[in-house]
Amino acid sequence: MSAKPVPLLEATGLNVHFGGKGLIPALRTPPLRAVNDVSLSVMPGETLGLVGESGSGKSTLGRAILRLGELTSGEINFDGVDIARATLGDLSQLRRQSAMIFQDPYGALNPRMRVGDAIAEVLRVHRKVPPEWVADRVAKLLNLVGLDAGYARSRPLDLSGGQCQRVGIARALAVEPKLIVADECVAALDVSIQGQIINLLMDLREQIGMAIIFIAHDLAIVRRLCDRVAVMYLGRIVETGPTEQVFTTPRHPYTASLLSAIPDIDPDRGLPENPLAGEPPSPIALPSGCAFHPRCPKALPVCSTGEPPQLGPDGPHRAACILPPGEIRS
Ligand code: SF4
Repeated sequence: MSAKPVPLLEATGLNVHFGGKGLIPALRTPPLRAVNDVSLSVMPGETLGLVGESGSGKSTLGRAILRLGELTSGEINFDGVDIARATLGDLSQLRRQSAMIFQDPYGALNPRMRVGDAIAEVLRVHRKVPPEWVADRVAKLLNLVGLDAGYARSRPLDLSGGQCQRVGIARALAVEPKLIVADECVAALDVSIQGQIINLLMDLREQIGMAIIFIAHDLAIVRRLCDRVAVMYLGRIVETGPTEQVFTTPRHPYTASLLSAIPDIDPDRGLPENPLAGEPPSPIALPSGCAFHPRCPKALPVCSTGEPPQLGPDGPHRAACILPPGEIRS
């Protein structure tokens, strides 16, 4: 009997709340609940898309998972290590096995530092190669992301946005990561350059076998790149499943609304014509019951009371909605 596959990353009950503290209770402001009771897992080599509107908590969750940002509570097991309660030594292991790619390719690099030095810095800090091999490894990393080794002498402002993002990816790859969190990493690029960077990520995933958490609001790119998708609304995952299942048979009205707003995603599939109305409520004053009820075209009176619905029973495709799956499409 073959052994059950073990997730590379398993996060349970993650919360990230800002504010809401202070010695004098009467002066405390309510906490901003950016991430609420989120659980997710990522298998080795898997690409998980994290989607949702701006302010849904995707980036905050991505940073919390890599312990680059606030984490109020929850458990994170990364490659067998509990990194939610990690010691500095555990965190340095995480830093050696994970990396983040940011949205702003220029902002992620020191404008005064040559590209080669920026990549070499990562190699030296993590002692990836002996000092005499650093220049050679820098050249190989630049080649790996489709840049000539001569770019090592360039400074970020000498490069286009797409070239700069390739350097950001080379820097991320320098640690030979098991997991990369890519946060809107193509959002600032022209559409043609976006395609090149996505192709590069797909190639690298094949070659290196790293897992990727791909944070994006562009659903067409997520559909192309990701094995599974998790849809976030107001800090919660409201639907998760294999990408094609979620895109063709969404089980949460929020997902259905997001998809119906995109004209070129399977126009023949008959997704409901319910464009998403209004802005999401404030994460400081979450609505009672299902947080999506003020905007939900399918809401019932019971949806506005009680605890928020939880993701459905175990299975690959789950949604946090009281309606049976067949009633989402109409
Ligand atoms: Fe809409 Fe109710 Fe489902 Fe929430 S629980 S998504 S309000 S139908």
